Amino acid sequence: MNTATTPASPFVSRAVERVVRGQAASDGDGVKLTRVLTQPLQKRLDPFLMLDAFGSDSASDYVGGFPDHPHRGFETVTIMLEGRMRHRDSVGNVGLLEPGSVQWMTAGRGIIHSEMPEQEEGRMAGFQLWVNLAAADKMTAPAYRDIAPDAVPAYTGAAGVRVRVIAGRSDGTAGAVTRPKTEPVVLDLTLPPGSTFDAELPAGHNAFAYVFGATPVAIGAAGATTVEPDRMAILANDAGGDGVRFAVPADAAEAARVLLVAGHPLGEPIAQYGPFVMNTTAELQRAVQDFKSGALAG
Ligand code: FE
Repeated sequence: MNTATTPASPFVSRAVERVVRGQAASDGDGVKLTRVLTQPLQKRLDPFLMLDAFGSDSASDYVGGFPDHPHRGFETVTIMLEGRMRHRDSVGNVGLLEPGSVQWMTAGRGIIHSEMPEQEEGRMAGFQLWVNLAAADKMTAPAYRDIAPDAVPAYTGAAGVRVRVIAGRSDGTAGAVTRPKTEPVVLDLTLPPGSTFDAELPAGHNAFAYVFGATPVAIGAAGATTVEPDRMAILANDAGGDGVRFAVPADAAEAARVLLVAGHPLGEPIAQYGPFVMNTTAELQRAVQDFKSGALAG
């Protein structure tokens, strides 16, 4: 970096603790995806339980979609980049996920939903993030929000960096979603070649950055780590670390893309059985029983 042209950061940047490559996986009716945040990382990245990245030009990778399936005990966040998916659920919600839209669903005590492609060709790409609910909120009533592309607050910062504030807050811009307890920050960043961006992250939040697109990004201040596309950087919980710096090489062919995610850890036991995430095995057994008996949803 040319320090003469790099602005001083207003924050203490966290360093990259570890770079994670996702695992190829299949879910729903044979949808191919990359599971980036896997179960062994749930404790480290509390309150986040899962991050899936999907992206394919081949209809056979996604056309099966995600037929009816239940959830209990957490929230699902679907971030569509390309393609269209239709959501239907047991609460009676129907929504179309289109490019740039976000769906924030609180499963709470139970919801059954489907997410089916509304296209038979072309590219489908996006993310699904799972955010845990505190024990006291796991049996809350289910809720659902579709956020249209132009309803996601966005701004263009210094050096032309485009910031879509899906959740939390960035540089005074409030995001589309605010949640208690986990206080998630979810930013979709587009960083032009040669740009530097300093994001604020509440100290004490667990945080990670997923680099997508085609351009690597240097993450951290002194001794930055270059993170290649399709990799997740877990950001260290450095004492006083209240931000993170991203820098894109000036000779990059195109803008870099980063999904930055941070949240306040719940510090509670995590028990998962497929689409149910509770605190104890007994609660999971109850979830399975309720699903079988039809008492989970509705
Ligand atoms: Fe689902």
